[in-house]
Formats: sequence, C-alpha cells, structure tokens
Amino acid sequence: MHLPNASLRTIQKQNLDRKPAFLRLVSPCNENKSKISLSDSHNNNSSPKLPFLSSNHEERMVEICFSSSHLNQEQIERLTQLSHVTHPDNAALKKFSGNIGYIKNNVGRFINYDPQIGGIVRVIEGDVSRIIIASINDKGIEISKKDCYLNLDVFLSLAEFAHQSVDIPDEWLGMALSIYFFHEVNHASQGIARHEDVKAVKSINEAYGRKIITALDLRSDYLAAHTMAILSTLRCGAFSRPLYKENFYKIWCHVCRGTLQAFPSKHRLRKGDIQRILGYLLMSHLIKDSSHKNSPLFIEGELLPDWCRDMTRINISMNQRPWISGLEVDPRNMQQAINSIRKGEYDQAEEEVGSILRCLPLTAT
Ligand SMILES: [Zn+2]
Repeated sequence: MHLPNASLRTIQKQNLDRKPAFLRLVSPCNENKSKISLSDSHNNNSSPKLPFLSSNHEERMVEICFSSSHLNQEQIERLTQLSHVTHPDNAALKKFSGNIGYIKNNVGRFINYDPQIGGIVRVIEGDVSRIIIASINDKGIEISKKDCYLNLDVFLSLAEFAHQSVDIPDEWLGMALSIYFFHEVNHASQGIARHEDVKAVKSINEAYGRKIITALDLRSDYLAAHTMAILSTLRCGAFSRPLYKENFYKIWCHVCRGTLQAFPSKHRLRKGDIQRILGYLLMSHLIKDSSHKNSPLFIEGELLPDWCRDMTRINISMNQRPWISGLEVDPRNMQQAINSIRKGEYDQAEEEVGSILRCLPLTAT
C-alpha cells in the first residue's frame, strides 16, 4: 500500500500558499514505506532530515510527524488552518517532543519518585520512538512497532482551542498534548488502549463495564497530570515537594480545565461522564483550597464520586480506596452541580461542588 496520492495531491492543491512546506507526511502502519515530505521552500536541502531529532537541541527529542493517510476533507482544512502549529519549530510541538524525550532519559528518577507512574514511563521508555499524529478514527492511541499513532482529531481540537482562546498561555498546548499523550499511554499500560479492549470490558455486563472504564479513565486523568507535574518539577533540579504542589495545582486547575473545555460534549452525558467530571471538580476545589490556605495537599490519587439514586448520600474513593462512604449530602447541591456539568458550566459546577464538600467531614489522609 502506498501513501494515498489522492490525499496528498488534494492537500498540495488546496494549500499551495498556506500549506506548511515543512509538514512531514508519512503513511501509518508501514515501517518499510519511504517517508514523504512536501517540497521544502524554507530549506532546499532535500535530504530526509527528521524535524525533531536531537541534533540541534540540548535535550533529547522524540520525532513527531503528521500522517496524510485517511484524512477527510474537514481534517485537511482544519490542519491547513493550523499550519503554524504543525511547523516543526512550533514551541508547543517542541515542548511536547522534549517532554517525551525527557522521560525516556530519566526513567529511574520518575519511577523512584512514584512507582504509580511506572506504567506510563515504561511504555514511553520501551514502545515510543516516534509519534505520528494520524487519522485513527475514535482510537486515542495506537502503538505499532515503536511508532505511536496519536489521534489527529484530538490534536486538532486542542490546537484550535489554544488558537482561539485569548486567555490561554503559550505553554498550554505543549502541556495539554503531553497530558493527553500520558493519559492514552496509561490506557495502554491498563490494557485498554484498543477499542476492542474497551468493548470487551463492557461485553458481559455493560453497566458494570462502564463503571470500570470510568474508573480507569479518571485514574489516567490523575496519573497523566501527576506525571506532568513531576516532569515540570524534575526539570528544575532536585525534587521539591512545594514546587510539585504548585505545578500540580497549575496543571490540574488550569491546563486540564482547558482540556475539558476543548472537548464540549455533543451528546447527553452518561452517569460515568458526570462522575468523571465531578471527580475532576472535587479535586480542583480541594487543590485550590489547599493552595489558597497554604495547607498540605492531601490528595494522593484520583477522587471518584458515586451517589445513590435520590442523591442524598455520596461515596468518594481516593486512589481506588474508599475515602468518604455513604455520607449525607444536600440533594439540591448535587442536582445543581450535575445540571451545571451537563451545560458545560464548570466554574459554576465547581462552586456547587464546594457546597457539597462543606457538608463533608474532610480530614487529611
Ligand atoms: Zn481515556
């Protein structure tokens, strides 16, 4: 199978002026295929130099490229609009690439700090030599012979959100891409990287299967942000707990919040979706509270809430263990928080989450 020339021609025809000449296009799932890049008006050297290898950077980088295979018209148009982001010199892609390279170079330091992130770190160390952003349908990630395919639609949503939002800082996209990558890599370590794996989990008892997937998703959300916070801290030298806390706060409450907003739900949310977002907001509230009061951060894992049908009692697990069990809450607060989540009004929902938490006897673990 060859790289679909039709797609390539379409791209070239459409983007003669705006197409990033440096955009590297490769065909997925075939290591023997020769790499194809569009003519390079910025650099007449036609040798197939990889844009993200380490040669001219201080730290090791992992190659990141884009695939032209199986793109639909909409994806081509959206990609064209983002030509500044797909440029190899783009700061966000460099940051993303550098983050993955940094982990590959410092596996021991990461695992020493917290073995919980071993799943993410080991997959990156052993299975990721190159990241190809490609059209892979509804999969988050696909690892094939050390090539790691990452979902183009997710990339487009994050990059467009960064591009369109005035209050998003420059470093957001590089961090958001890294966190998304860690989340998906953690799914690989959990054994649910493939769509078939998720389907298999739901195949016997769909409701129970969905609960498991919700728990694994929130777990991956936490471990992805945790990995990013450790990485940001280690980059500054010896590990410092106060700096980690500051980094985790920034990543969870700002970077991850943006990520949540970048994917507005097109469908009515299921209970598992609401549990995941409510869990995220419970953590955001507690982390902010801890930061403002300068009190110790006592969250050592993801918070997964569940509630009874009439919403009068709540369970919250932390790091997969019971933390709050069967405690009474005001069902009006619960309903308001859930309504706000359904509308995508997360600031409002977080305030309502604060009202729920004020009813609970929280203690540091
Ligand atoms: Zn997931």
